[in-house]
Amino acid sequence: MSTSDAERLLVTAALPYANGPIHIGHLAGAYLPADLFVRYQRLKGEDVAFICGSDEMGVAILMRAIREDRTPEDIIDTYHPQIRENFERFGMSFDYYGRTSSDLHQETTQEFFRVLDEQEGFKLKTEEQLYDPEAEMFLADRFVTGTCPVCGFEEAYGDQCEQCGSSLSPTELEQPRSTLTDAAPELRETTHWYLPLEEMQPDLEEWIDTHPEWKNNVLGQIQSWFNDGLKDRAITRDVPWGVPVPPDVAERHDLDAEGKVIYVWFDAPIGYISATKEWAMQDGAPTKWKAYWQDEDTRLVHFIGKDNIVFHCLMFPSMLMQHGDYILPDNVPANEFLNLEGEKLSTSRGWAVWLHEYLEDFGADRGPDLLRYALATTLPETKDADFSWEGFQNRVNGELADVLGNFVNRTLTFAHRYFDGEVPPLKDPSDADEHVLDALSAAPEDIGQAYDNYRMREAVFETMALARTGNKYFNDTEPWHTRETDPQACANTIHLSLQLCASLSILFEPVIPDAAQRLRDMLRLADVRSSTPADAPDGALGWGDAAEPILEAGHTLGAPDILFEKLEDDTIEAQTEKLRERAAQRSDSTSDSDMDYANLKDNIDFDDFTKLDLRVGTVTAAEPVPDADKLLRLEVDLGFEERQILAGVAEQMAPEEVEGLQVVVVANMAPKEMFGLQSEGMVLMAEEADGTFVPVSADAANGSVVR
Ligand SMILES: [Zn+2]
Repeated sequence: MSTSDAERLLVTAALPYANGPIHIGHLAGAYLPADLFVRYQRLKGEDVAFICGSDEMGVAILMRAIREDRTPEDIIDTYHPQIRENFERFGMSFDYYGRTSSDLHQETTQEFFRVLDEQEGFKLKTEEQLYDPEAEMFLADRFVTGTCPVCGFEEAYGDQCEQCGSSLSPTELEQPRSTLTDAAPELRETTHWYLPLEEMQPDLEEWIDTHPEWKNNVLGQIQSWFNDGLKDRAITRDVPWGVPVPPDVAERHDLDAEGKVIYVWFDAPIGYISATKEWAMQDGAPTKWKAYWQDEDTRLVHFIGKDNIVFHCLMFPSMLMQHGDYILPDNVPANEFLNLEGEKLSTSRGWAVWLHEYLEDFGADRGPDLLRYALATTLPETKDADFSWEGFQNRVNGELADVLGNFVNRTLTFAHRYFDGEVPPLKDPSDADEHVLDALSAAPEDIGQAYDNYRMREAVFETMALARTGNKYFNDTEPWHTRETDPQACANTIHLSLQLCASLSILFEPVIPDAAQRLRDMLRLADVRSSTPADAPDGALGWGDAAEPILEAGHTLGAPDILFEKLEDDTIEAQTEKLRERAAQRSDSTSDSDMDYANLKDNIDFDDFTKLDLRVGTVTAAEPVPDADKLLRLEVDLGFEERQILAGVAEQMAPEEVEGLQVVVVANMAPKEMFGLQSEGMVLMAEEADGTFVPVSADAANGSVVR
């Protein structure tokens, strides 16, 4: 497979927004897999730069600042150090963690923008857009709400209607209002720079075709974007927060740069480049970043969650192609989503496990390894996966403690009790002994292949399998008997068990670096290459050395210690309790507010009501609409005819729940096209305070009039 022999590796992990803390969904999506991969590569002796940083220039930061009556600077200065510190405590081994508010990032982004503009890599388009005369600001994206032209939802945002999932532009909203001042916006002309993705599609398709080895979930999403046809994307905004459009670039087009900033999804990926530059400067070799970004002998890998695929697989590569001086990503191994206790993670509902809270509860010394291991075995690599506290306890107690910890402990205890704490010699190995030597010699290669091919879960399972092999060998060879009956057989068992422990202390290093170090301390095994950015001493042992016995006969061992304490039921129950309490508090606090019952609308006449043609129908088929996360395509039998209706219920109900339902339909709703499909009517649903949808139903013949 594609274990490329590039000279160096540049690995990036998605830049987190500096407007909130990190939770386990983030860790499982992008950060932990990246760290596992990088630590493994460093142990192999590869030249790696591992780059990340805070994403600080987006509209999301500005929105939060406005909502909390703070400045954007205040928001990012709160969260950036917090995120960086918690990543560090969790064991994220970045070579550099930057931030996109840095001067160097602003310069790098502006220069990139300038180069593309000079190479005619953009299109300029002048259009009328909504402007808030009170705030003196154009209303992009979420700065405007209004009535959705598709479904009539009154709180639709300028970029999307959350009720029906339609992608909107602000000028499409009916009765738009500014979310800043509640003012009715006016139309003003403004000019923006667009990335011409439509005309770049053939080049992007050709390039993606060269990567059939990419993960199916990634290629599938890219293909559906290609099938829909890429659309030009505006990469500037008229908002007061972001990297400013350089005045000289605006002047080239006789425009005024005042108030114009670069869109966050243009500047954020450039954050990887500017952070690499800062890392090089910090290392006293300011030009070394170039080799990592511009030399064909570098392999660039982006670790991200699935919500960022379009930006890393299409938008950023198109920018890099246009620029011309940069390499393109070699792989973008995006993960799917992690659920929690069978439900979607939701920060607003309080349904999440926050990293900083976890570290407080489980300790920053021993805690990180437990979570790293449990998450590594649950990564949503090919489909969504579920984290549960019970599963966490099972992994820790049943695998880390009972398999790995037990094997290490019984081996070292035995060596101390019967071999004076020294490694006994191996002589005339039996078949069972040879079998262990074979397992040892195959392990680094097998586990390494899984890492190289972005199958982290498999790598971790294989590593634990080697510890299981050790336990079984110890049981089968019964050193407590052979000690009396065949002392050399006993010595062989302990010799090889100690060698397995030594190799495991290297092979487990990417996953549980703290325990791996403690294990090496017990074995008095020094001179192992670090999996962190630290320099390797000459002659240090690396990944491949784990294939052979490492410890010399006669080597003196350190004292045995407990590698993993088991987690008590109380500890786990306290966590599930905390989760449920907080989720309940959140739903209480929303029901205290006026969120509980929607405000009554103005009175209407009976005549207004009779304009509605409500009919009973039966849903005969339901299926997802590609790319529309919120829509289901329904076929509804109205008795007199079959209708195709697009319903914005996909996040609340599965197709099989909807199929067969008897529903009430607004049958005279003007047809609308969404995602290339006609919708001929609307299915009525009652929405409960927590967002649950309950279909409005009538046990009557299809086609019956509701009045
Ligand atoms: Zn809508």
